[in-house]
Amino acid sequence: MLIPFANEPLTDFTREENRKKMKEALQKVKSRLGREYPLIIGGKQIYTEEKIVSYNPSCHSEAVGRVSRADRALAQRAVETAAEAFLSWRQVPPEARARYLFKAAAIMRKRKHELSAWMVLEAGKNWAEADADTAEAIDFLEFYGREMIRLAQPQPVTPYPGEENTLEYLPLGVGVIIPPWNFPLAILTGTTVGPVVAGNTVVLKPASNTPVIAYMFMEIMQEAGLPPGVINFLPGSGGEIGDFLVGHPLVHFINFTGSRDVGLHINSLAARIAPGQKWIKRVAAEMGGKDAIIIDEDCDLDEAVAGVITSAYGFSGQKCSACSRLIVVGDAYRPVLDKLAERVAQLKTGPAEEYGIDVGPVIDGASYNKIMGYIQIGREEGRLLAGGQGDNSRGYFIWPTVFADVAPRARIAQEEIFGPVLAVIQAKTFDEAIAIANDTEYGLTGGVYSRNRAHLEKARQEFHAGNLYFNRKCTGALVGVQPFGGFKMSGTNSKAGGRDYLKLFMQAKSISERF
Ligand code: NAP
Repeated sequence: MLIPFANEPLTDFTREENRKKMKEALQKVKSRLGREYPLIIGGKQIYTEEKIVSYNPSCHSEAVGRVSRADRALAQRAVETAAEAFLSWRQVPPEARARYLFKAAAIMRKRKHELSAWMVLEAGKNWAEADADTAEAIDFLEFYGREMIRLAQPQPVTPYPGEENTLEYLPLGVGVIIPPWNFPLAILTGTTVGPVVAGNTVVLKPASNTPVIAYMFMEIMQEAGLPPGVINFLPGSGGEIGDFLVGHPLVHFINFTGSRDVGLHINSLAARIAPGQKWIKRVAAEMGGKDAIIIDEDCDLDEAVAGVITSAYGFSGQKCSACSRLIVVGDAYRPVLDKLAERVAQLKTGPAEEYGIDVGPVIDGASYNKIMGYIQIGREEGRLLAGGQGDNSRGYFIWPTVFADVAPRARIAQEEIFGPVLAVIQAKTFDEAIAIANDTEYGLTGGVYSRNRAHLEKARQEFHAGNLYFNRKCTGALVGVQPFGGFKMSGTNSKAGGRDYLKLFMQAKSISERF
């Protein structure tokens, strides 16, 4: 019998034996840097002349891998192959589909440190962040496998005299999966295997910054025995092949996670009907955030500041859930600023590969320039309390930065920076703090540190965020525990890792037989 879902435990790197394993994994991966990887369409490896070269953000002269790059002709082939594979994959019993996911989870578990090591070198995640990414990928496989088994059971309908009535969930068809680079294994795995276990076939276009770890996922799914054509691996530039894939008449849905602008573009393109298209395309789009934590006057300020620092600077602030606005109520403002300045100065910035680094690099040169640009804007919009400097001579390093005395409508308090930059805003009252928190176009995560029960109840009702956390960090949602997805311009509220997720990629058929 299948054991109930439980989250994959995280690795305790304070233990010597675990550090040793991770160091060995890093060495193994380092010996494989710079290799070439193919596309995979219908189970066949295809090497193209054009390559996407992925670099180590901690050391940008180091090529992590050279991955074949699809053009439109290959994109066409991938969609057609997925459409053909759908005819047989949809007939595979749900329990059998789930077993491919359980097998893949077992392989990932065996290769855990190696997968994390790839992310340390390709995405610049520190050890703990990379380990959490791998654990989340395993969770998605285990959780969605079980979800499919649940949804394949007879679904409740109201009994009706003289008839047998049933309702069953069927897959949609071909999907295009477009994940971001910031959870290059977890989000890529979840957004792909959810639709696949539901009976769909897909074209997976990984983010161009992290195609090597994406290839490792593909390798694992192949080793798990997934039939050819169910997942077609199609690295390529989003700008070049994205529109073609999204607009294709054989495509039934798009599962996107990434920036607001690209998500909105995909959403509008998918709404157009291509010649020959026979259905309305569905779009699941999970996008950016401008997430706020409120520190109330009446709370443990040390605990609150520690939670804010983890939320703001984990993975260099490059999480959609990252705290980028801190709203402090009343008299707590001064002591919070003092504690923040002191603690942020203690964070260690450096190459992700070194054990004990708190803040690694940002992903690439474009991000580095964009974030440094916002730091410049911040110098005009607020008072620099910590950080503010960067160094891109070897890797893309930006020191954790805090701006105090920021106005709620300032650009650094409204626009997603996606880097280690925190804007601190003062509010006179808790009500004002909630109003400031809600006053952006995003609504992804939020947090409140308070001991005031009435304030927490108010936040429950009025703080408009898809994932709200009290007296803890606002990052690190766990599969099954905190289903994840935002409001407003943060997306279509897919609730990844939740019980509503697979139905986004299915259609329900009601069958009624009169006796
Ligand atoms: P991005 O620039 O929007 O890219 C995301 C994906 O879209 C990449 O695979 C990209 O391909 C592709 N793409 C780009 N242009 C496209 C087009 N015209 N058509 C189709 N696909 C296209 O985002 P990112 O920089 O990778 O990720 C960071 C963003 O993701 C942040 O805004 C963050 O908040 C958001 N995010 C949201 C969530 C959530 O659950 N809400 C989770 C994680 C991240 P290329 O790489 O080839 O350009």
